Amino acid sequence: MPPRRTRSQAIILDALRASGRSLSAQELFLELRQRQTPLGLATVYRTLDHLRIHGQVQARPLPSGELVYSLVQQDQHYLTCLHCGTSIEIEQCPVQPLETELQECYHFKVFYHTLEFFGLCAKCQVMAQR
Ligand SMILES: [Zn+2]
Ligand SMILES: [Zn+2]
Repeated sequence: MPPRRTRSQAIILDALRASGRSLSAQELFLELRQRQTPLGLATVYRTLDHLRIHGQVQARPLPSGELVYSLVQQDQHYLTCLHCGTSIEIEQCPVQPLETELQECYHFKVFYHTLEFFGLCAKCQVMAQR
């Protein structure tokens, strides 16, 4: 039986689904106000934390240290610039065969994965050469 969801959990999951991208708690807070389903910032934080612990959202730290949240069924692949903090999404999953292999070798049920490469974006490489 799926766990019962509180109203704030349903609201937050809906907003993440609708936005289709990772949002920080602060962005989510503003998004909810625009969607006419406002929640207090403390409630947003508390609910996100609860959803994360129960495997319903995943959190990813940006180079700034801020966490961004997304639904777990979205695998994530990024090139992240350490200088300006831009995250470029890699469209195709480069590790699907690896995931299958790991599940078989370790008898581990994988729910999602996150793959992130860190470095300098094209713009920041040009800046660094000046
Ligand atoms: Zn950059
Ligand atoms: Zn993938």
